[in-house]
Amino acid sequence: MSKYVVGVDVGGTSTKFGLFTTEGEKMDKWKIATDRKDNGMYLTGHITESIKERFVKHSISEGGLTGIGIGVPGFVDEASGIVDIAVNIGWENYPLSTNLADAFHVPVFINNDANLAAAGEHWQGAGKKEASIFFVTLGTGVGGGIIVNGDLVTGPSGTAGEIGHTITVPHGRLCSCGREGCLEEYVAAKGLQRSLRDYLRNFEGSSSLHKDSEVIDIYEAAKAGDALAVDIVNEAAYYLAYALANAATMINPEKIVIGGGISAAGETLMRPLVAHFKRFVLKEADKYLSFEFAQLGNDAGIYGATWLAMRRLGCFD
Ligand SMILES: [Zn+2]
Repeated sequence: MSKYVVGVDVGGTSTKFGLFTTEGEKMDKWKIATDRKDNGMYLTGHITESIKERFVKHSISEGGLTGIGIGVPGFVDEASGIVDIAVNIGWENYPLSTNLADAFHVPVFINNDANLAAAGEHWQGAGKKEASIFFVTLGTGVGGGIIVNGDLVTGPSGTAGEIGHTITVPHGRLCSCGREGCLEEYVAAKGLQRSLRDYLRNFEGSSSLHKDSEVIDIYEAAKAGDALAVDIVNEAAYYLAYALANAATMINPEKIVIGGGISAAGETLMRPLVAHFKRFVLKEADKYLSFEFAQLGNDAGIYGATWLAMRRLGCFD
């Protein structure tokens, strides 16, 4: 009888699922809306129901499930299975592993969503051939994940890979984490829109941009040669390169994988990023290093969550 693993990726809007065999073959994927009502107290119930329904649909008995991996947008304690804080869901000190394990009577492994996206890209995506990668996701904010020698690096309180909250500009812009000058405030949607407003304050030339332009507009305008947009994109690339060069020097990965919605900007993002990076990085750390865009898109999280469960269950041994 085949055995199965379910990978779950909890997001602020939707929660995605992947059903895999313990050999790593994907059988199905689906998603449900994320119910954030009353601090997300109903969400685990919905996740449980959704998995059980899918098992019925595929005529799989519940005994066929061997484990669940689940990614959460926040800080998690992998060892205890507790979500310390997931602001977008409303969970705080939430015993996610225990709640799901009680429903299915199988081990449940949790981690941060960006860490699991890194794991997904390492298992089935852009970092498939490399033992060590650094993954950075550029969306509303900036997340990251570290894979070293084939395993995920998280740290005792789960902050490993959190490049978005590394100080890039000492005493710079105030960040949502309460400190000043975090990378996230200069890069990705949040930072770029803030830069746009700052630049516009002293700008007298002509530009297609205005104070409410979306990030995609900024990259489109930069691609078309709009001087203001080029400056903003270049500044973001400069700070991202600075942070990535320091990360690469310390971690020495073989590949830096760029994911998240903003990676759709393609070469308009990559060209200035790599150019600045080459100037910042320690030469030896760059020797075997390459850059690549992520390949799994929105599925990276379910692949990574499945990988986590499979790895912890010993499926790869
Ligand atoms: Zn911060």
